[in-house]
Amino acid sequence: MIRHLHNKLISKEFSATELTKQYLERIEKFDQKICAFLTVTAKSALDQARAVDEKIACGEKIGLLAGLPAAIKDNIATRGVKTTAASRILENYVPPFDATVIELLRARDFVMLGKTNLDEFAHGSSTENSAFWTTRNPWDLTRVPGGSSGGSAAAVVSGMAVYALGTDTGGSIRQPASYCGLVGLKPTYGLCSRYGLIAMTSSTDVPGFLTKRVEDAAYLLSALAGRDPKDATTLSCDSRDYLKAIAEPRLNGVRIGIPKEYFIEGLNKEVLNAVKGAVRILEKEGAIVKEISLPHSQYGIAVYYIVTPSEVSSNLGRFDGIRYGFSKHSDAEDLIDVYYKSRGAGFGQEAKRRIMIGTYALSSGYYDAYYKKAQKVRTLIIDNFKRAFREVDVIITPTAPDVAFKIGSKENDPLAMYLEDIFSVPVSLAGLPAISIPCGFNHENLPIGMQIIGPQLGETILLKVAAYYEGITDWHTKEPMLLTEL
Ligand code: GLN
Repeated sequence: MIRHLHNKLISKEFSATELTKQYLERIEKFDQKICAFLTVTAKSALDQARAVDEKIACGEKIGLLAGLPAAIKDNIATRGVKTTAASRILENYVPPFDATVIELLRARDFVMLGKTNLDEFAHGSSTENSAFWTTRNPWDLTRVPGGSSGGSAAAVVSGMAVYALGTDTGGSIRQPASYCGLVGLKPTYGLCSRYGLIAMTSSTDVPGFLTKRVEDAAYLLSALAGRDPKDATTLSCDSRDYLKAIAEPRLNGVRIGIPKEYFIEGLNKEVLNAVKGAVRILEKEGAIVKEISLPHSQYGIAVYYIVTPSEVSSNLGRFDGIRYGFSKHSDAEDLIDVYYKSRGAGFGQEAKRRIMIGTYALSSGYYDAYYKKAQKVRTLIIDNFKRAFREVDVIITPTAPDVAFKIGSKENDPLAMYLEDIFSVPVSLAGLPAISIPCGFNHENLPIGMQIIGPQLGETILLKVAAYYEGITDWHTKEPMLLTEL
């Protein structure tokens, strides 16, 4: 997609302005039904596109991302453009600064079409926790697009953006990619800067990409990876050219691990068969497939749902009704009352649930039993992966246990919602890179995704395997029919 559109821009088949207008028209046409965007920045998008057209007209060389319209998840700070994290408490917050990933995209002359919907503060797997509205899955409007980057996924698959940025803390890029039939790349923790991401779980948050093709994810990673002095957790690694990885996809001798604990009873049969089928294809193409064991992954959900609320309870402490956004002070009796009233009215149910669980898990007397124990088990999960990667190059699992579910079907059952993350959270707890790519459809024509996990900083091998599979299958070329009917 990216290279194709870039070539057309430089050969002047169409201008960046025309391209941007076309995307804005699609947003106008489809988004009333899909509800992917919280804010559309049409005017500045056209200004950005015009600037690129001027460069092309002057014969200036433009980069691959220049003039290509993108959507940005609304928990990523954008200077001068509302950034709400889909929360009432930040409903009118306009950041005075850009996240590092946005700064890097601006330096490459990208066009920002707008900001996309998510579960409030990225807590969730369906966008139903958004304080504003639920985004609909373009494959079936009665279903969720996944979450929390559901708006970003829905925007890309319905052709309302060339690509989108999302964030992934426990699966929030991979699961919506799986539910919408897209490529979703979650880089190694620390490979891309978190500066300017509204913090959820600082020890697992990463920015990443929702794209139609593996190649696009590789372009974006090449552009946005790297050490950032504003984020002390970024890794200093040699700059890597991920494009090379996909230019020569190969499988011969690649060792693929299939963790027996991830192919379990209760998993949707069609999902299971699609992923197993994909692995068989890879094996036929020359990969070596081995069964492996990740025994502590079964505690992934339990660990994640202690670690995450603990960090959330701390990270959301800054929203006090004084410094940021929403404040309910007119009828407050004193300062404490301002806090109570602002936070009481500003946070949604799930954010409050996480603040309470996290505060409990961190409080004296419970800390050892919950938070500390969770961190110890987290170390075991990390060790499991380390051991596995001595034997294999990548690990393949389903991305999610099911296909996109009906809107409302899990909304009042937080545990059922948390189980959505069963295959994605161990990877996040270990800080590893993973990609979800389309590998089939169920009998209702809903997309199925497979997750390819790499070792720390193993993006190259992961992209290689993903690009190879994409090259010999055509799942990624299918588009939701509904769009033609809208
Ligand atoms: N669904 C997970 C959660 O609710 C993951 C969210 C995310 O990755 N931001 O925490």
